[in-house]
Amino acid sequence: MAQTMRCYRHPDRETRVSCATCGRPICTECMHQTEVGVKCPEDARLPRGARAGVMKNSQVAKSFLAGAAIAILGIPVVFAMFQIGFLTFILSAVAGYGAGTLVHRAGGRNGGPLAMAIAGVSVFIAYAPFMVPQILGGNFPFFIFLPALIAVGFAVYTNRQ
Ligand SMILES: [Zn+2]
Ligand SMILES: [Zn+2]
Repeated sequence: MAQTMRCYRHPDRETRVSCATCGRPICTECMHQTEVGVKCPEDARLPRGARAGVMKNSQVAKSFLAGAAIAILGIPVVFAMFQIGFLTFILSAVAGYGAGTLVHRAGGRNGGPLAMAIAGVSVFIAYAPFMVPQILGGNFPFFIFLPALIAVGFAVYTNRQ
């Protein structure tokens, strides 16, 4: 007799099925039929063999390249955003999301702590030149820091596993 398990996403539901990749129990609503067996929604979403968080060396290199590009190309983008003067919070969210997606794709859509760090740091660097003069002038660049934080947040969030 198989031991009764409970769906990891729905603790109130009993199941005898578990994910072929990660082994977590899943209920009938959560399970995805794939060519390699039943999988949880998270693993069904990933291409075969690409387990979350495992980046190949080439993908790590691409992630760093994407991060460097974001840091450099992001500076004029951020400058343009603050020229507009309004909607910087929304634009920062969009920019952060875009930058995060770029890093995510460069890393083979694996995500994970390294991709999160690269995305966050590169976005922050893009905002930094606009904060430094104010900090040097003795002011805290609140209205640059807050949008920067939002952008970093979105960039990091898109690279979560
Ligand atoms: Zn799974
Ligand atoms: Zn479930």
